[in-house]
Amino acid sequence: MDRVELEEAVRRARDLVTDLRHEAGAIAESTAAGPDDEHDVEGSSIGFERRRVAALLSQVEASLLGLEAALARQLSGEYGICGSCHKTIDPERLAALPTAELCIDCARSRPRA
Ligand SMILES: [Zn+2]
Repeated sequence: MDRVELEEAVRRARDLVTDLRHEAGAIAESTAAGPDDEHDVEGSSIGFERRRVAALLSQVEASLLGLEAALARQLSGEYGICGSCHKTIDPERLAALPTAELCIDCARSRPRA
């Protein structure tokens, strides 16, 4: 990804985080309004929805962090350079995983973060 594409991806991820936080807030409000909802049929679907939104939010937040870090590396001229061995990361790997910080060799020799 070039700088413009990364900036666009960061902006989209930020918008999504904002939306999901609103959604999580709305769910919290609807459950706060009726504590007994947890015990009826409606309550269990709210609990499911709350977990779904929370899981999605943490995923999007993690990807936002990765994109912001990638953008920072792009701006400092380090994008596409392995953070461990400082070799150039394979362009095919970057195309598949734009936020990659490590070349394939270093990524394979490390436990997944
Ligand atoms: Zn490397």
